[in-house]
Amino acid sequence: MQNKGMPKAYAPSEHEGPLYQFWLEKGFFRGQADPQKHPFTIIMPPPNVTGGLHLGHALTATIEDTLIRWRRMKGDAALWLPGVDHAGIATQNVVERDLATEGLTRHDLGREKFLERVWEWARTYRGVIGQQHRRLGVSCDWERELFTMDPGPQRAVRTTFVNLYHDGLIYRGERIINWCPRCQTALSDLEVEHKEHNGHLWYVRYPLLDDSGRQTADHIVIATTRPETIVADVAIAVNPKVRRWKGLVGQRALLPVIERPIPIIADDAVDPKFGTGALKITPGHDPLDFEIGERHALAALIAIGPDGRMTAEAGPYEGLDRFQCAEAIIRDIEARGLLEKIEPHRHSVGHCQRCNTLLEPLASKQWFVRTQPLADPAIEAVKEGRIKITPRRFVRVYLHWMENIRDWCISRQLWWGHRIPVWYCGSCGAEAAPSPEEPMRDPQVCPRCGSRALAQDEDVLDTWFSSALWPHSTLGWPEDTADLRYFYPASVMETGYDILFFWVARMIMMGLYNTGQSPFEHVYLHGLIRDHHGHKMTKSLGNVVDPLAAIDKYGCDALRFSLATGAAPGNDSRISDERLEAGRNFANKIWNATRFVVANLEQHGAAIAPPRPADQKQMAVMDRWIMSRLERATAQLERRLSGFQLTEGGKGLHEFFWREYCDWYLEMAKVRLRGDDPSVLSVLAHVLDSALRLLHPFMPFVTEAAWQSLRPHLPASGGDGEALMVAPWPRPERRWLDSQAEIQMEGVMDVVRGVRNLRVEREVQASLWVETYIALDGAADWPPEAPLIVEELARVRPLHLVANGSALPKKGVATAVLAGARIAVPLSGLFDVSAERTRLGGQVEQAEAEVRTLSARLGNKQFREKARAEVVEREEARMATARGRLEGLRERLAELS
Ligand SMILES: [Zn+2]
Ligand SMILES: [Zn+2]
Repeated sequence: MQNKGMPKAYAPSEHEGPLYQFWLEKGFFRGQADPQKHPFTIIMPPPNVTGGLHLGHALTATIEDTLIRWRRMKGDAALWLPGVDHAGIATQNVVERDLATEGLTRHDLGREKFLERVWEWARTYRGVIGQQHRRLGVSCDWERELFTMDPGPQRAVRTTFVNLYHDGLIYRGERIINWCPRCQTALSDLEVEHKEHNGHLWYVRYPLLDDSGRQTADHIVIATTRPETIVADVAIAVNPKVRRWKGLVGQRALLPVIERPIPIIADDAVDPKFGTGALKITPGHDPLDFEIGERHALAALIAIGPDGRMTAEAGPYEGLDRFQCAEAIIRDIEARGLLEKIEPHRHSVGHCQRCNTLLEPLASKQWFVRTQPLADPAIEAVKEGRIKITPRRFVRVYLHWMENIRDWCISRQLWWGHRIPVWYCGSCGAEAAPSPEEPMRDPQVCPRCGSRALAQDEDVLDTWFSSALWPHSTLGWPEDTADLRYFYPASVMETGYDILFFWVARMIMMGLYNTGQSPFEHVYLHGLIRDHHGHKMTKSLGNVVDPLAAIDKYGCDALRFSLATGAAPGNDSRISDERLEAGRNFANKIWNATRFVVANLEQHGAAIAPPRPADQKQMAVMDRWIMSRLERATAQLERRLSGFQLTEGGKGLHEFFWREYCDWYLEMAKVRLRGDDPSVLSVLAHVLDSALRLLHPFMPFVTEAAWQSLRPHLPASGGDGEALMVAPWPRPERRWLDSQAEIQMEGVMDVVRGVRNLRVEREVQASLWVETYIALDGAADWPPEAPLIVEELARVRPLHLVANGSALPKKGVATAVLAGARIAVPLSGLFDVSAERTRLGGQVEQAEAEVRTLSARLGNKQFREKARAEVVEREEARMATARGRLEGLRERLAELS
């Protein structure tokens, strides 16, 4: 019964490449508008062009491809639109690092040459990412693949900026921003990583001045965590409710070291519980001080430059690094007797998300989006359920952030990215932006003075600005395209929960602003990937799984199945070699089951008819049972996929296919095939065909390869194309539900399991047939083929069915009591009794010897005194095990005599 077409083992590498090429050439990946169908759209989160794909990308691709393949088979017009992100700061960083290996900086090259280098990098990795995605089996529409710097998305970015600008929702202003001295750019609040830091609180005495400006003997003590900013202090603020400082308001103090007089002011924003309840005010380097400074019309001095070194404002410390400056100032203050005390202080400090450098809060002129007016409709869209978020708990997280949103700093002092479309007049300093009518046309003359000396802003936009437009810019917006009308809004936005604010929230705001519609209906947030201990994967832990290496070793389907079934919605998922191996075993199981079925169909030769519900009554109970189970598995999978429960969906299918179809139905079918009863082939082939369809979205390659072998033997159903990936999704057919058949078969399987357990417990040779008595509680319900199934599957011969438990033999038998039956197996049938008696006798002697040895050791006073506690414990545990084993062996020996 060998099948010429299907080799014994499934070799992923032989199938994956050719099958992908076949699907691609047939145009199955193309998303085409079709008024007869429902659109189902997923816009792929574009991976950064910084480098190759990692396991997080593989998870995203797996989940989205599973959803897309499912909906495509269901008959939707499925579009999965791929893309790649220019990732401004991240890509500029990697290219700068690359340049550094040649001893160069971007300034050595200049803006134009540097950008050529980045473009080269981007083109390379855009290709690499595309190839890697293909290896993951993704069925996205490659003809629509886009890059965030392509002309279409560029136009969307420009148009959006110009519209927001003219609507007063973008402004340029001086604010405290988060500055990275290494990346040399401003960052948004979201790009700051807060880390706990063990620092100090320095209590510094600021001498008080009298009315004529002379230094008095008194002072006011100020606590600070950042002494290097003292040089930029412009005032001291006290909370007006703190009684001890009340009298000082309106007086002046002397800035230590720098010796500049500064006023003492009152402001409610000062925390009376921090330090001494008096605060030094440094508007140039602290967000709260900046606000207080604005209220009191104080200057914002900048003492720390963009490179992290002290400026001329720092006087004697000019040119020092900010950390060296802190030490120098403290030394000088102490030398002048102005240091009151130092306390340890644990506080949270912002670091650059990209390069981990300690960030510097810096007053700086930047571009901002006024987010509140954009956030309001985005809050409504989620509250009213126009956008649904799974898992539900992220609704609260989203709303909390949106309701407390702050203006978004969008300018970056980088070269790589979308250049800010605003020009400044060289003659009068006025701003000029393109008109909303012609956003792509650069302004030619100054709107105020008519000068032609216009220079464009040097900065670029935050990468997330273009990402925020991705669901509509990829479909042709700002043009009113047919694609936009058909495929927008997208059905699902699937991404990691870690970018809910960075991306999802901003897509909702910008989608609503630009199109008046929510950009998607569902947001599905998946978790992070961890190793099997639950640790995050990092290079330093050495537990990173490279998705392409995993594909080489285990096959693409194995990787996909472990990823898809490793996660619960929004929860972190785990992956390990064991899970990947299990995935590979499952692929082999699918292959081998198909091989068996195909071989039998080939041998049978004649065409088979599909099972029809009208014939259900005449069908064997095992056939009715598996049809009913298939029906339940189909309905259950449908429910789970609709609720984004891929993990449960995949596990349920695994259980159905492996346990019910392979372990039970296929084994029972073999009995009928050996008895030359080909009637089983119809159901055998039908269930396999359906299972391959259900499994296809999870494991596209092995199912397609298997189905291609099965297809020539299937009855023509009409709807099938030439590939499983475009074959119709199994439709629920409730008429196949058959609870009676399920109950009956459960009873039969229980008996088989019962006999098998007895055999395992008694270590009976697998090949041995054993005589068995079975008493059934509900004997009338025992299906006619049951005796044969029990005989063959439990290797029972002869089988005696008796009326009730009292008719069972009582002596010299091993028994099992089940829910609906009792089993008795004569021991003489299990083994050669005298040989077994000898064997058990030997084992009893061994066990006795072990107990003797252990009890001697444990009884030894010296051992008990000298050995470590865990050694004694271990020996005691061994003793308990040995005693238990000895007891069991003696009992079994007694049974035999
Ligand atoms: Zn940085
Ligand atoms: Zn001008």
